[in-house]
Amino acid sequence: MFIPTFLKHKNKFKSQIKVTLGALLCSSMLVSNANAWSEHSLITYPILNTMPEVAAQAPIKVETLAEFVTAEAHGLETLLATNEDWLRQNFPYYKPRPDALAFDAAGQDLLTSFIHAIRINPNARVNPYIQLLPGQDKQGRRRLDASEVAVFTHLDNYNSMTFVEVKSGDLVTPIEVLVSANDDPDNGLDIGLFADSNTDAGKLYGFGNQAFGNPALEYGTQAPFHMGFYHESSVLFRLAPFLRDTFPDFRVHMYKALSEYAFSTGHDYWGWRFMGWGLHYVGDIAQSYHSTLQPGVSTASSIWTNTKDMMGFPQAKIDAIQLLSNRHLVLEAFQAIVTKQAYENNDFSSALFKALTQETAVLEYTDNTFVEVFAKNSYDKSDKLADYLERWVPEQLVSDPSFEVDGSKEIKMIVQMIREQHGEAGMTNMTNLLAEFMLDHNANTRSYVRGILTHKP
Ligand SMILES: [Zn+2]
Repeated sequence: MFIPTFLKHKNKFKSQIKVTLGALLCSSMLVSNANAWSEHSLITYPILNTMPEVAAQAPIKVETLAEFVTAEAHGLETLLATNEDWLRQNFPYYKPRPDALAFDAAGQDLLTSFIHAIRINPNARVNPYIQLLPGQDKQGRRRLDASEVAVFTHLDNYNSMTFVEVKSGDLVTPIEVLVSANDDPDNGLDIGLFADSNTDAGKLYGFGNQAFGNPALEYGTQAPFHMGFYHESSVLFRLAPFLRDTFPDFRVHMYKALSEYAFSTGHDYWGWRFMGWGLHYVGDIAQSYHSTLQPGVSTASSIWTNTKDMMGFPQAKIDAIQLLSNRHLVLEAFQAIVTKQAYENNDFSSALFKALTQETAVLEYTDNTFVEVFAKNSYDKSDKLADYLERWVPEQLVSDPSFEVDGSKEIKMIVQMIREQHGEAGMTNMTNLLAEFMLDHNANTRSYVRGILTHKP
């Protein structure tokens, strides 16, 4: 019954499924603060600290973005033009940068021209700063207000983080720059960039309308830059071609090119900072909820849920949206709590830190690695992730669609609840699963960092 209807009303079906699948994706963004991993800096620092090519580097001089762009205007004009050509030729779903936004070395306002050319949020805070790790000393530096680092109206979740000011000419270590920059893309670089974002930049940038996520929510507009669906079934892509409108692969490629260019011209601060920006998306994609439409749910089931919705039975879809959102948050909350506890207890022998600090085999990074290896591994782990969540996390949090995890008191007690219901076996299994994801994050990070550093003079 489903197939003939689909064939008869193909176009109608397609537009409806866009709406319903869009709502499904939207769900993970409806929650107030769905990142892939909470505070990337905390999980990336232990990895970088075991890489002598990062951790043992001598301090470098801070430089503002305006200084870098002014000093390198001509080289950047060529680099960005070459990069744009490459993206147009090699990324089949790339949304070309409008020609009028090409970086112009002879222009008046070079900083704005650069920001437009790389199509980031013009309000993003690109001033130099350092995010301190828990317990790290301010060394007399001025503490920055969260609003000097992040663009959001609500900044409550930044309360526990400490940012300090650094100025042009100050000396900082590469690892400090890299760890801080790693969170920048979650602080506003990708906010408001779509035609329907109701921003000036969104109207200029050529990314079209936002394919999924909620354009009305401040945080939601970054979703298609931080999630990438590359490995869903072909039938799903045919029914919902908008699933292709995701851009982390483009970001990763562009920031790698910028980082290599900055290193090759002696602007090491921006070499590390751009590398950190690229690393953020490498981290995000390792989380299955950022690489997979519905972890643990088959394509057939996903389409059936949407079909029922179109036939006037929306409950299954409403439930699916709630569960998707709840599970995404559960994984993040579990990671955040376990990571913070390990830092607080100096428990660097935990499974989590072992996974983050062990020398992994380092894959040579190529132009396909992000999609074909990083995103694929994450997609392939999605069934196991869903299965573990169902087995080892209390039902209320992951299998009860009448329960809203976001903002609940239960989510803060997740570790305690796992222990109460599933004993140590529950905690061990969930911790080992998290460690598996962290091991991928570790290997991916090393691969991307080394991929850039092999070009460093
Ligand atoms: Zn992100």
